Amino acid sequence: MIHIKRRNTREISVGDVKIGSGHQISIQSMLSVPTVNVPVAVDQLFRLHSAGCDIVRLGVPDEASALALAEIKKQSPLPIIADIHFSYKLALIALESGVDGLRLNPGNISNLDHVKEVIKATKEKNIPIRIGVNAGSLNPNKYPHPTAEAMVESSFEHIKLLEDLDFQDIKVSFKSSNVLTMIEANRLFATKCDYPIHLGVTEAGDGMQAVVKNAIGMGTLLQEGIGDTLRVSITGDVVQEVEAGRFILRSLGLRQEGIEIISCPTCARVEYDVLEAVHAFKVKTSQIKSYIRVAIMGCVVNGPGEAKEADLGIAVGKTSAVLFRKGEVIGKYSKEEMLEALLEETLALDKIKQAEANDKD
Ligand code: SF4
Repeated sequence: MIHIKRRNTREISVGDVKIGSGHQISIQSMLSVPTVNVPVAVDQLFRLHSAGCDIVRLGVPDEASALALAEIKKQSPLPIIADIHFSYKLALIALESGVDGLRLNPGNISNLDHVKEVIKATKEKNIPIRIGVNAGSLNPNKYPHPTAEAMVESSFEHIKLLEDLDFQDIKVSFKSSNVLTMIEANRLFATKCDYPIHLGVTEAGDGMQAVVKNAIGMGTLLQEGIGDTLRVSITGDVVQEVEAGRFILRSLGLRQEGIEIISCPTCARVEYDVLEAVHAFKVKTSQIKSYIRVAIMGCVVNGPGEAKEADLGIAVGKTSAVLFRKGEVIGKYSKEEMLEALLEETLALDKIKQAEANDKD
């Protein structure tokens, strides 16, 4: 089993979620509905919570949105971060509302006394600040080209402002819609500083393109040990962001939870509708939190062999299917019964894993 060696970083906390210093990589998302509409915002927070999100960021474009944070915080099942640009007043209202973190670039607040006021209040609340450097929002007069070097240099300007005020409860992010720039900026920063890093490929588009860009950008860095929290950016339903984040982390063995399906692409030997079986099985196991690898293979020629690393699996022949556990055959079923048998074994294994997890606690 290959394990990724994580980069050593400082530790910060967003609510009860610890970030950096070897803690589990957390999954973030951002509400796609107006913050000012409290019931709608809270509804989306609960959907994200159910999907496995750890932390949620909310845009705070105006005073009404900032004032809504107090009620949202009261009802939120997850730690929330207020995303604020330029306005120290909105930051102060957000802090007063009890948010668990700020995303704020202090260098964008023009008056140093205002920065001081915000940092004083942030220290009193004992919450962290994320400095978020986006390639698209670098000062064009100073940085005509949004290179990785420019992004990292810009981050240190913001960091210095905070450190000069004796504030080090910081994480940083370097986001670009260009995957290679994003990778290089994060790598460069990781060689210079030990603040935790929030990963993201920004404005990644929708659907398959977004998932691929995010997976390549974040996956490259994560397998190098870089990254302590992440947000997958997708134009679409926010729940997809969380699911994609979980898949990226699980693919690298950085978070092991839920059912991982190993299914073959099918070929001329296939003996049944594999896609339909995979969909049916996923629907019935979507609530399982234990990490279980389940192989759903199209035939018996390569089925057991291809899936022997799985916890459970089926390989289907002309008239019947074999059910196997860790590559060993444990039963034979008709095609009509096979999915039910696989499901029963999966639920039984889930119970065992849950009991083991409870024992560890
Ligand atoms: S498991 Fe069987 S059906 Fe599936 S791809 Fe391999 S040979 Fe083809």
